[in-house]
Amino acid sequence: MKTYRIAQIFEKVNSLDERKRCLLCGKVVCNVRNHYYVHFPGKYACSLCTAVYTRSDTLLMHCRSKHPELNVTIIP
Ligand SMILES: [Zn+2]
Ligand SMILES: [Zn+2]
Repeated sequence: MKTYRIAQIFEKVNSLDERKRCLLCGKVVCNVRNHYYVHFPGKYACSLCTAVYTRSDTLLMHCRSKHPELNVTIIP
């Protein structure tokens, strides 16, 4: 199955709104990371950038090294 990065499948609804529209199903969602799992279960995507990993611990390591200013927890 072809996979997409989060930035590729979500577009802004409008500039004043945090919600994004999913290009795969047309749904407007607030939490793009949660919605990404709907289409790509088993993929763990960073909500802060476009990185996607297949393991939650790898994503957690990514967040700790790339986004150390944030106290990130991953909910599997
Ligand atoms: Zn969708
Ligand atoms: Zn990241």
